[in-house]
Amino acid sequence: MLKRRFGRTEMNLTVLTFGAMRIPPEKDETPEANFERALATLRRGLDVGINHIETARGYGLSEELIGKALQQGVIKRDEFYLTTKIGPRETAAEFDEALRDSMGRMGVDYVDNLDIHGINTPELITMSTSPGGCFDAVKTAIADGRVGHIGFSTHGPVEVIVDAIETNLFESVNLHYYYMNQRNLRAVQAATEKDMGVFIISPTDKGGQLFNPSAKLKELCSPYTPIEFNQRWLLSQPEVHTLSLGAANPWEYDAHLKMANVDGPLSADEQIILNRLDEAMSNVGISFCSNCQACLPCPEDVAIPEILRLRNLVKAFDMVEFGKYRYKMLAYKEEETGERKGGIGHWLPGAQGTFCTDCGDCLPRCPLNLPIPELLRESHSLMSGEVGKRLWE
Ligand code: SF4
Ligand code: SF4
Repeated sequence: MLKRRFGRTEMNLTVLTFGAMRIPPEKDETPEANFERALATLRRGLDVGINHIETARGYGLSEELIGKALQQGVIKRDEFYLTTKIGPRETAAEFDEALRDSMGRMGVDYVDNLDIHGINTPELITMSTSPGGCFDAVKTAIADGRVGHIGFSTHGPVEVIVDAIETNLFESVNLHYYYMNQRNLRAVQAATEKDMGVFIISPTDKGGQLFNPSAKLKELCSPYTPIEFNQRWLLSQPEVHTLSLGAANPWEYDAHLKMANVDGPLSADEQIILNRLDEAMSNVGISFCSNCQACLPCPEDVAIPEILRLRNLVKAFDMVEFGKYRYKMLAYKEEETGERKGGIGHWLPGAQGTFCTDCGDCLPRCPLNLPIPELLRESHSLMSGEVGKRLWE
């Protein structure tokens, strides 16, 4: 498997990273079955050549499962680099306690790379980097040898990511960037200028649930699978160093292995696939949203750019299921009471299109003169599963 230098950390990581978010227990799974599945999945990851395991304090039992695998000798600590992620805390003491807790759960005395998890807002940059905060705990942990390097993960807007990069405090970034969502290109470039490691979060799932592609997307990517093409597109960019693969079962690596050994720029044949995808996107036509974000803020907190980005994917590639999967994570309006419910906060900010009041504030800000309220209504119909029914009419 190809390896790449992870920026100035100088770690030589494989282009695939095992992301441990999916090894915690599944619904109706016994602890014994979970344990067997987690161990077999971890072991197969290392056997196919992966040399980096990434987990988080917030991924349920994943740290414990890694700890048990180590304790039982199923995996050995010197076989892999280890990253864990811990969310920002108010004080250095709290952050240090969380780090010690994570390391205790894994039974390790050294973490190669520690990410501050979810720097999604300017406030969280401040909380993470202010004197007396998380960064002081990180500096102590690096000085006493518990931690090798410091990075951050983010689901935030590109402006926030670039600001966090510009602090010069981090050696790597863990972010969303895929063929289907290229909004963070500027952050990838900013990280490259700082010689930071660039880790791509879950390209197969967050990059379009490519394990369940539409017939149209399959045809456009042929003879590759959509998983393969997205992986190839990412790794054709030397700025990208490693892609997380959130396998839940040992066989889930197979779809990813072919492209983990292909390096260099896209070939002429691969460029033809890219051109086909770009053309399908251009066929969205005059209702295409460029995701420029200029329409924000919306007084009703409607997530206009994200909704219209998903609409682009539905129109261009028939990615209805992916659209529904992401759309339902936005805050929704309860039909009976009209109350705002759900949502995942700063991990995917904003609300569904049903909150639009047709106030018109966004319209003059859109450089493409899109009829935003109308497109939001259509998007809701397409992605709420209520095709043809406009709930607020
Ligand atoms: S028209 Fe709708 S989407 Fe646009 S700003 Fe007003 S409420 Fe928000
Ligand atoms: S301003 Fe227009 S093009 Fe830009 S994100 Fe908003 S709707 Fe899309």
